[in-house]
Amino acid sequence: MAGKAILVLGGGIGGVVAANKLRSFLKEDRITVIDQSPAHSFTGSYVWILNGKRSAVQVERNLSGLVKKGIEFVQGNVSSIEPAAGKIQVDDIELGYDYLVVSLGADLEPETIPGLCCTGINIYTADGLEAAYRELLKFQGGRIVIAICRKPYKCPAAPYEAALIVDDMLRRRGIRTMVEIEIVTWEPAPMPTAGPAMGEAIVSMIKPRGINCRNNATITSFDPDLNHLSLEGGEVVPYDLLFYVPPHGCAQVVRDAGLTGEGGWVPVDPGTLATKHENLFVIGDATAIKLPNGKMLPKAGVFAHKHAEIVAAEIAAHIKRSAMPEPYLGEGYCFIETGKGTAGLAKGNFYAKPDPRIEARKPSRLLHWGKIGFEKYWFWKYL
Ligand SMILES: Cc1cc2nc3c(=O)[nH]c(=O)nc-3n(C[C@H](O)[C@H](O)[C@H](O)COP(=O)(O)OP(=O)(O)OC[C@H]3O[C@@H](n4cnc5c(N)ncnc54)[C@H](O)[C@@H]3O)c2cc1C
Repeated sequence: MAGKAILVLGGGIGGVVAANKLRSFLKEDRITVIDQSPAHSFTGSYVWILNGKRSAVQVERNLSGLVKKGIEFVQGNVSSIEPAAGKIQVDDIELGYDYLVVSLGADLEPETIPGLCCTGINIYTADGLEAAYRELLKFQGGRIVIAICRKPYKCPAAPYEAALIVDDMLRRRGIRTMVEIEIVTWEPAPMPTAGPAMGEAIVSMIKPRGINCRNNATITSFDPDLNHLSLEGGEVVPYDLLFYVPPHGCAQVVRDAGLTGEGGWVPVDPGTLATKHENLFVIGDATAIKLPNGKMLPKAGVFAHKHAEIVAAEIAAHIKRSAMPEPYLGEGYCFIETGKGTAGLAKGNFYAKPDPRIEARKPSRLLHWGKIGFEKYWFWKYL
C-alpha cells in the first residue's frame, strides 16, 4: 500500500477508534495498530463482570479482527519511542512512521503502596472483577472496603458503581444487613472534577443504600496479616474483604521517551492533542490536560474516544492538505450503573469556564438499556 505510514500504539479504546477513523478518512495510507495483548478488553462492560452478567472473555475481541478493515495489527511490546528519529521499537522490530498516535493508557501500579501486592482484589482488571464476583457469591458477612488509593485514576465513577453493584448483589442474596460497605478515598467528594452537584448526585445514590464514604482519607499502607489499611494520621480501617483501585502511572516507555511532564503524564494541546513533537499525538489516559479551573481532565474512555476522532481527522486533513477539523471542545458523558437494572448519566462540557458544566440524570431503566445498547454498538462499529 502506498502513502504515509501511521502507527497507532495501543489497541485500547483510543487506539481502536483512532485506527478505524483513520481508515475511514484515508484509503491509500498504511495504518498499523500495535498492542502487547492479542485482544481488546472493553472496559465499558467491566461493571457487569462484577455482578456476573458478563465474563472477561465475553467483553474481549481479537485485535486481529482489524485486519479485515484494512488495518494492520502487530502484537508486541513497544519498548522504545524515538520522536527525533521518527521510529519505534516493538520487541526486536524497528518501525518508522510519518505520524504516530500514542494511546498506551495508564499502567496499574499496586506495588507502589506497601502491603497492597499481598491483599485484596484489584477491581480494575477483568480477572480481578471475576475474582471479586466469586468472593461476593460466598461472602457471609462483615466489612467490605473499596479503597481508592491515589490520584488520578481512570473512570472516576467506577468505584461508586462497584459499591452500588455490591450492595445490589448482597441484597439479592439476602445478607445485606450483615454487611457494612465503605468506600475509602482521598477525594473530598465523589467525582470532584465534575463539580459539587455531581458529587451530591452520587452521594444521593449511595447514601440511601447504606454505603458509607470516608473522604479526604489518604491511604499509606495495607496490612495483609491484620486485614486493615492505614491512613495518614495513623487511623486504621479494618476489612474482611478488600476491593481496591490501584495507583496509576504513565506507561514506562512513554516516560522513557521523555514525553511526560510535571505530574508524570503527557502534556498535550487540549483541542488538538498535539505534543511538542511534530506529527506525534498522545491521546486518552496518558495525557495531562489542565482545565480552566486548574483541575485535570479525568481519565475515561469517553475522552480517549473523542481524542481519537479529533486526531484521526487532523492527520487525514494534514495528509490530504485539506482544512483542519474543529478542535475538541471538552464534551463528555458517562453512564453510572447503580445495580437493580438502572443507570444514571453524567453529561456536559469539561472545558467550560470557570468550572465544568455537568448535568446528572437520575437513574432509570432506560439509561441502563442505553448503556447495553452502547456496548453492542461499540463492538459492532469498532472491532
Ligand atoms: C473498571 C473500569 C471501568 C471503566 N468504565 C468506563 C466507562 O464506563 N466509561 C468510560 O468512559 N471509561 C471507563 N473506564 C476507563 C477506560 O477504560 C479508559 O479511560 C480508557 O480505556 C482509556 O483509553 P486509552 O486508549 O487511553 O487506554 P487503554 O484503553 O487502557 O489502552 C491502552 C492499550 O495499550 C496497551 N499497552 C500498554 N503499554 C504497552 C506497551 N508497552 N506495548 C504495547 N502495548 C501496550 C495495553 O495493552 C492497552 O490495550 C473504565 C476503566 C475501568 C478499569
